[in-house]
Amino acid sequence: MTNTHELNGNSKKIVMSGIRPTGFLHLGNYFGAIRNYVRLQDEFECYFMVADLHSLTTHPDTKGLRANVHRVLAENIACGLDPEKSAIYCQSHIYQTGELYLYLNMLAYKGELEKTVTFKEKARMSPDNVNAGLLTYPVLQAADILLHRATYIPVGKDQEQHLEMARTYVNRFNHRYGNIFPEPQAFNFSEQLIKVPSLDGTGKMSKSENQMATLYLADDDETIMKKVMKAKTDSGPSEGNAQKPDYIQNLFGLMHLVSGEQTVSHFETAFDNCTIRYGDMKKQLGEDMIKFISPIRQRATDILLDEKYLQNVMVAGAAKASKSAQQTMEIVRIAMGLNYF
Ligand code: AMP
Repeated sequence: MTNTHELNGNSKKIVMSGIRPTGFLHLGNYFGAIRNYVRLQDEFECYFMVADLHSLTTHPDTKGLRANVHRVLAENIACGLDPEKSAIYCQSHIYQTGELYLYLNMLAYKGELEKTVTFKEKARMSPDNVNAGLLTYPVLQAADILLHRATYIPVGKDQEQHLEMARTYVNRFNHRYGNIFPEPQAFNFSEQLIKVPSLDGTGKMSKSENQMATLYLADDDETIMKKVMKAKTDSGPSEGNAQKPDYIQNLFGLMHLVSGEQTVSHFETAFDNCTIRYGDMKKQLGEDMIKFISPIRQRATDILLDEKYLQNVMVAGAAKASKSAQQTMEIVRIAMGLNYF
């Protein structure tokens, strides 16, 4: 089984991932996903999409969709994604997605889908809107990936189970219809997949929940500092080399992401010898966050003003992604015996 795009004579590995346009992007999106996209695009054939169809499973009101799609595109580009190197496109522009989703649905069983952690969580949060699209979310995601026969899927830790399900569908499809799809795997440049925790020490940073505890790429400097300074701490360790409580470990985790090594080790030492002042640590973290986020915010603001440019990015991205999707679907239809001429 090969996991490269053979059809167009290209031997590069294929990378695919997506982000839902359900709100402002945050530090979790950056470190869990976008940072890896940017590094991968120089070496691999990359497909990155704004997952607008996925967002419909939980956000049926489409009034803000256009603005959100533009924002996700602009913020990704502001983070360093390059439309010349990667196909950057909108999920709904690739019509083959619906077709492959349909076929894969026949290989996905209700009982398994109902056990998916993200489904159970979302169903609990919106009990009045437990729709079939929500249930089959992992099938749609598998279709997005398999359309390009991608193998590297840069995602955060929350997507691990979905990737496992995608591999299950690949194996079922290949077993029934012949070896067509490679197995996709979650990818992160560091050894482990990342979960960026929220500032209050509970759960993860997220587009829609827990907004005061999430650092958005669009937050202004004052807001960033305010959120960081409000992060939960305590009166400090009372004995040397103590174990860090979760919420303190989270602050150190965030510091690792944006501060220099010397800064982190200064505060690690201060923690170990009980001289740490969390106020100082948070102030330093706030300043380093501002240094990290504010150039991205400024670039995204400029890009958002240029609608024509964003349209061009979407059109060019859709052309590249459709070409790859069309090639895959021709193979899939033949493999499945859906060729009657
Ligand atoms: P979403 O915002 O749910 O559409 O997710 C887009 C990408 O960001 C996916 O690859 C997620 O795994 C990743 N992601 C979202 N939140 C976090 C987080 N708090 N930490 C790490 N990765 C995240």
